Amino acid sequence: MMKQYVTEHQSKHLDLTAEATRILFQGKSEFQDIIVADTPEFGRMLVLDGVFQTSDKDEFMYHESIVHIPLFLHPHPKHVLIIGGGDGGSAREAVRHACVETVTMVDIDGKVIELSKQYFPAISKAMREKNPKLTVKVGDGIAFMQEAENFYDVIIVDCSDPVGPGEGLFTSSFYQDTYKALKEDGLFVQQTESPFMHRQLVHDIFSRVSAIFPISRLYTAYIPLYPTGMHCFTMGSKTYDPLTWQPNRKRDFSTQYYNEGIQRSAFVLPNFVKDVLYGK
Ligand code: SAM
Repeated sequence: MMKQYVTEHQSKHLDLTAEATRILFQGKSEFQDIIVADTPEFGRMLVLDGVFQTSDKDEFMYHESIVHIPLFLHPHPKHVLIIGGGDGGSAREAVRHACVETVTMVDIDGKVIELSKQYFPAISKAMREKNPKLTVKVGDGIAFMQEAENFYDVIIVDCSDPVGPGEGLFTSSFYQDTYKALKEDGLFVQQTESPFMHRQLVHDIFSRVSAIFPISRLYTAYIPLYPTGMHCFTMGSKTYDPLTWQPNRKRDFSTQYYNEGIQRSAFVLPNFVKDVLYGK
């Protein structure tokens, strides 16, 4: 039998290709091309517009990093907003915090949500089980943010790359709206690609966020599925600074990646990453 593959063109000169034992879905939604494939190396994978989004084997590294680091920085988060995150992994992690009362998730693509519930039962658990804290909305996160004001404690922008429907989620006007949507001590985080491969992009996003939020920080995590494996997250905060974090409440659930050491060490940046942010 002919072997099948899924490929992400990570740059003009670098591809990551995974052998696929089965293509479970291949089609087009209103917004993007979608593939769901089983692969020996990563398990089941979700691919949007040719970009690897998540996999059953490494998703915990990404979802625990994008959710628990901002949620544990905030001493008492009640209302959480997730923009994107259609696979449901961020929502699954956010509802685990006992102090969190509501989690609102807004993804532009209902097809991603539907396929995730069908093919990624573990990742989409909170959506599938209709967790009472969780409200799932299908809509544009940019428009949603324009309407929100002074309500959220933590906003998590779990978006695709800055091409296609995700492009407007990386602009100064979106960050202004995010600032407005947060309470006076709120904070937000966004996945912002690889500090090794996407240096200019990471620099530009950090500059935009720094111009709006009094505290802006970058942190990294190891995510094997993403370009170079070194991924970063940009944080804008009104009050709480991750560099002076002290444990503020007990973690009463288990994690595979996150721990209290990582809460601190994720913000310790190699010199080349500092240069990406602040220039030489
Ligand atoms: N972990 C992933 C990564 O870094 O590649 C992101 C995963 S999640 C599947 C990304 C989601 O962002 C997709 O489901 C996509 O539909 C959603 N998205 C893209 N643009 C959006 C927008 N403008 N508003 C809301 N959701 C958006």
